[in-house]
Amino acid sequence: MAAAIALLAWNTVACGAESRISPLPVREVAPGVFVHFGAIALMNRDNDGAIANVGFIVGGDGVAVVDTGGSVKEGRELLAAVRVQTNKPIRYVVDTHMHPDHVFGNAAFVGIGAEFIGHANLPRAMATHGPHYLDSYRDSLGAALMDGVKIIAPTKTVSGTLELDLGGRRFVLKAWPTAHSDNDLTVFDTQTGTLFAGDLLFVHHVPVIDGSLLGWLKNFDALAAVPARRVVPGHGPLVTAWPGGLADERRYLDCLARELRAAIHRGDPLTAAVKSVCVSESDRWALFAEYNIRNATAAFAELEWE
Ligand SMILES: [Zn+2]
Repeated sequence: MAAAIALLAWNTVACGAESRISPLPVREVAPGVFVHFGAIALMNRDNDGAIANVGFIVGGDGVAVVDTGGSVKEGRELLAAVRVQTNKPIRYVVDTHMHPDHVFGNAAFVGIGAEFIGHANLPRAMATHGPHYLDSYRDSLGAALMDGVKIIAPTKTVSGTLELDLGGRRFVLKAWPTAHSDNDLTVFDTQTGTLFAGDLLFVHHVPVIDGSLLGWLKNFDALAAVPARRVVPGHGPLVTAWPGGLADERRYLDCLARELRAAIHRGDPLTAAVKSVCVSESDRWALFAEYNIRNATAAFAELEWE
């Protein structure tokens, strides 16, 4: 009897944690390129923080993961999804930028020999904002989902561009000037023309400014010039028309700049201005109420000093 109980306990320990991990559902958007499309929502306990698009590219001798999700649980499920497709080693984990919905899953990929890659500004951004993220997301995600979340800094950084090889499959990382954040990094799979845009591109989900409105607007021509056949936005569905798929985001950010400049020119106080700008856009975006005033407030301060 004692032996049977011991065996039962051993089985629970050996299989318990692993067997509860179900692979994140992914879609093969191009040969060897897999994406899990996150919920268009704020991070919360019910969605595991899985609101950002995360994915991976399978090459000849290894795998590159692009973003790890909003919790270690999501990260583990993404790792399980990789293992459904291939047993090749994960060589790279690319963080497209510092935000929790993109990097809170990093800890799931520690200790497997992967290089963590980010923008040259990412280590500083993580050091500055990381402790606050760990603290403030306890409320929305809850202790269970936050357990094990660690801020994992990149082991390799990119300024300008960096080309990497996954065994006959080249992909190009590009570090962008400050836009959505000051550490935006994109991933371009040259074999299929698939661009992971990170949060330089929002579709349906209203764009969120945590860097520079003017910087973001300045990046549009270079973004539009990427010879992409399809684009995975940071949030929202796959874009297959490029650069046409940038138009909505550009219109919204242009609107913010135009209407805020007019309000500043009239001498409107900030509190009034940020409530009235771009209400014409309100029906066109999800989460507009959650972010538009915040965007306008950040951009007002920037435009005031033009
Ligand atoms: Zn973001």
